[in-house]
Amino acid sequence: MTTENVAAPINAWQVAQRQFDLAAEMLNLDSGLRRVLREPRRELTVHFPVHMDDGSVQVFTGYRVQHNLGRGPAKGGIRYHQDVTLDEVKALAMWMTWKCAVVGIPYGGGKGGVVVDPKKLSKKELEGLSRRFFTEISVLVGPERDIPAPDVNTTPQIMAWFMDTYSMHAGYTVPGVVTGKPISLGGSEGRNEATARGAVYTIVKAAAHLGLDLKKAKVAVQGYGNAGSIAAQLMRDEGGTIVAVSDSTGGIRNMAGLDPDKVLAWKKEHGTVQGFPGSEDISNAELLETECDVLIPAAYENQITIRNADKVKAKIVAEAANGPTTPEADEILHRRGVFMIPDILCNAGGVTVSYFEWVQDLNRDHWTEADVNAKLKVIMEKAFGEVLALSEQHRVNMRTGAYLNAVQRVADATAMRGLYP
Ligand code: GLU
Repeated sequence: MTTENVAAPINAWQVAQRQFDLAAEMLNLDSGLRRVLREPRRELTVHFPVHMDDGSVQVFTGYRVQHNLGRGPAKGGIRYHQDVTLDEVKALAMWMTWKCAVVGIPYGGGKGGVVVDPKKLSKKELEGLSRRFFTEISVLVGPERDIPAPDVNTTPQIMAWFMDTYSMHAGYTVPGVVTGKPISLGGSEGRNEATARGAVYTIVKAAAHLGLDLKKAKVAVQGYGNAGSIAAQLMRDEGGTIVAVSDSTGGIRNMAGLDPDKVLAWKKEHGTVQGFPGSEDISNAELLETECDVLIPAAYENQITIRNADKVKAKIVAEAANGPTTPEADEILHRRGVFMIPDILCNAGGVTVSYFEWVQDLNRDHWTEADVNAKLKVIMEKAFGEVLALSEQHRVNMRTGAYLNAVQRVADATAMRGLYP
């Protein structure tokens, strides 16, 4: 096993494989099965042209990876970001496999990405890019095969374009091909808030387990997109004080408390959380080291590393983002007694409500928000309890507990199906 190099960039795919290897070793997994589960089933790279507003044609690169299809169709979001790589998408696809297994929903794992900074595109260019990308990956997707959803920088509007593009090719409306759609097109009540809401359900359980009073808790949130901004609002509703938040441009801090709604309005107006009245500007690195009880990384991979894990002050780290903590940092946090709610458990509320949306679409049904949230709560609390029990039984951190549960479920399904031919 390699140790994390302080200077080199961290490769998310290597991290994902190491996390899997650790669980496979503990589970004494059959070596053939280990070789199967440690690689993605399918990787598709596409280079596709888009008409730009200035009359030029630009070629973009995108990916769709299906890590595992053992327990059902592939499921996972599509992200638009200038730093997307195939290795990152492979890691995110593998994490989706374990995430769906941890919460017991009948999916495998997939993920997609396009190498683009969507903030630099006009709405027309964004639509053209989205429609052509979805056409390119339509060799893999379908309501029974692979169901994309939102991720970093992708929105319900983009899901609507994906769904429309697929439906135009099919000749009829296929709402179940993508989740996270607007409500008017078969989207689910509560889907937009689901990642954050699910995370908060797990934080409430963790706080009760640790005897931490959330009404007195200081909360710091890294990332102020869909997951981070709503997590901040929901933690405020739980009685917590939001002391620091950040986005890709930097962070802000006010130990007396920030109003998450006003911060969101400020960000919408100014394009950044920074400069928010009554707060001091801080860096993203300072945010992670802020004095707080609950730290919610809700941005990107590899944020808590060997470099800063010693400086994290929080009692609970709740991973609303995918892959924010490296394996070395995990060990440091565990040794220091920080309670980790790992990504594949903490942020599984998003894909869980995506599953509800798909079920509603396939049945031409529509559930109330109260129904959705109640069902989500049951699933998140059950998964939290199972992972906590495993981590206590095996005296391992919560991430390893979650992996033991997930990898075993996927391994059982794979072994039961047998090897074809
Ligand atoms: N992108 C989200 C995730 O990482 C949601 C995926 C989905 O709903 O399929 O879990």
